[in-house]
Amino acid sequence: LVPVLLHVLYSATTPYTTLPSVLLLGPSGAGKTALLTLFERGPFYKPDQPASNSPTDDGKPSVPTPVARTHTSQTPSTVELAVSSDPSAHSYTTDLDAAGATATKFLLVDTPGHPKLRRHALTALSRPNPTIVPSAFSASLSSKNNKNSTSSSSETHKSKLKALVFVVDAAALADSDSGSLASTAEYLYDVLLTLQQRFDRQRRGGARAPASVPVLVAANKLDLFTALPAGLVKSQLEGELGRIRKTRSKGLLDSGEGDALDGPGGDEEEGWLGSYGAEKFSFDEMREFDVEVEVVGGNVFGDGPGAEKWWRWIGDRV
Ligand code: GDP
Repeated sequence: LVPVLLHVLYSATTPYTTLPSVLLLGPSGAGKTALLTLFERGPFYKPDQPASNSPTDDGKPSVPTPVARTHTSQTPSTVELAVSSDPSAHSYTTDLDAAGATATKFLLVDTPGHPKLRRHALTALSRPNPTIVPSAFSASLSSKNNKNSTSSSSETHKSKLKALVFVVDAAALADSDSGSLASTAEYLYDVLLTLQQRFDRQRRGGARAPASVPVLVAANKLDLFTALPAGLVKSQLEGELGRIRKTRSKGLLDSGEGDALDGPGGDEEEGWLGSYGAEKFSFDEMREFDVEVEVVGGNVFGDGPGAEKWWRWIGDRV
């Protein structure tokens, strides 16, 4: 039997006012779009597989799909998904309707991986109560076949950001010539520093700590034998993030900016990710700023651990 997924396509016309959102971040090519499409379409999604209701070559039926849209990194998309409130039905393949399960709906928002277009995402993250306006991420998807869509409202609604999924290409990270480790870590540094500074600003201003935004680093493409296992992805990223914070603080000192502003509360501390002055960086340091970071391996295509752990991680946080 084909599991009919409850996942429905979000369209700009769906009444989704209060749905929370989860943001997909990460460098281009890491697999954000593939992951979003997998969660939306279900487990039979294969790359380059034409959308159809007829059985595929291997006899497996493909999921009737309301959307078969690929998008370029300039036109990110948002899908509305539902996760069961019952942990035993915590699978993106569960037919929530048939299971009679109560579900929590949320929006999964893809963002552009291109460096020039990242500002949008980082600006949203810097707010005390980060909200996403999905239309700002231009979810210009068709509402065709979407039984949940209506044609009434075109208002822009704000969605409360609950969590971040930072997708990395674990195979590219293994290739030291690719420069992937450095560029991935640069992006991750900016994301984590934005969350840290947001927490710091509130704390210094005497305000209540902002709602925390946990981060899942999804080490993708573990189906490839060249890919680094999750443990190594974690240690490589931590090493690189440590190098970046040293380089950046040295840059400030060399430019003279650090002299006057060094020490607690100064510019150097502001740009320093994690525990100030620590020798080696570890993700655990982010707890000081109420930022939980977890690295979990998986894959969208091929054989491997799959995407269930990521789905469960998301389900526990929306
Ligand atoms: P994005 O730029 O982060 O949105 O990345 P895409 O989703 O466009 O994926 C980039 C490339 O990686 C595509 O060719 C995908 O088919 C491929 N890809 C994504 N996930 C996986 C995976 O789990 N395993 C393998 N082998 N390839 C993947």
